[in-house]
Amino acid sequence: MSINYKEEIKKLKAERNAIILAHNYQVPEVQDIADVVGDSFALSKHAAETDHEVIVFCGVHFMAESAKILSPNKTVLLPAKDAGCPMADMITADKLRAMKAQYPEAAVVCYVNSSAEVKAECDICCTSSNAVKVIQSLKAKQIIFAPDENLGSFIAQKVPEKEIILWKGFCITHKRVKAEEVLKIKELHPEAKILMHPECSVEVQKLADFLGSTSEIIKKAKEIPEKDIIIGTEEGIMHILKKQSPDKRFYLLSPGLICANMKKTRIEDVYLSLLNMQHEIKVDEDIRVKALKSLEEMLKIS
Ligand code: SF4
Repeated sequence: MSINYKEEIKKLKAERNAIILAHNYQVPEVQDIADVVGDSFALSKHAAETDHEVIVFCGVHFMAESAKILSPNKTVLLPAKDAGCPMADMITADKLRAMKAQYPEAAVVCYVNSSAEVKAECDICCTSSNAVKVIQSLKAKQIIFAPDENLGSFIAQKVPEKEIILWKGFCITHKRVKAEEVLKIKELHPEAKILMHPECSVEVQKLADFLGSTSEIIKKAKEIPEKDIIIGTEEGIMHILKKQSPDKRFYLLSPGLICANMKKTRIEDVYLSLLNMQHEIKVDEDIRVKALKSLEEMLKIS
């Protein structure tokens, strides 16, 4: 007998007093069973504010870990156990400590795409939606920004009064986009506007009409009058864009814009996660308390 996952998930959610949070890059069937779909920032806020006892985080490990840091008394589950983020793995707390020793006057800002240990070494976290605001809020003139070099370069242009020292990490998905691909798709759809995520390489960013986080891209796509829109971020976002504006035509900037880790969570995994209460995220309490400070600083100014 086949399982009606939607119905079973609904029942289990009520039994467990659970909420399902899903990132915009998740597969459509997972987005559709979620209580909240959003970017890292929106989901962190929900994780911090929810009254539910269980948070099922459909995304990658650092996101579920951030939810646990913010809500230590809740059970946080990551349905796809091995869904990680290669960018977050490009930095370790030891390496960051070594960089801090080189720049003792610098404030340290880390993108939420980082481990709890790395967050514990930072002064404040940021997401792509609030990075500029976060950096502007700091008194320090010199800032270490980790781990995304491309997002850091984008911010550096917006905040020229600060000296931004960049960690050399990157998103393997967004970095795949080549300038030639942008020129080619623009030739095919000359009237289209290009909305792009600043995790794309700097060379590619220059060809965008608009650069912003996933939530900013979603907002922009709704607001602009153009019917043809080229999307320069992970493919999962197309689901909400098409739902939001069925009269518009969306084109993915590159076929490479698919994050294998974000696609690991299937509806079956969400069901099994709730059924067996798997895979629970744990964070060492000393690390959690330090990392919480960085996340709370971010939430305060956003
Ligand atoms: S899209 Fe990039 S930054 Fe996001 S999880 Fe995948 S690899 Fe990490």
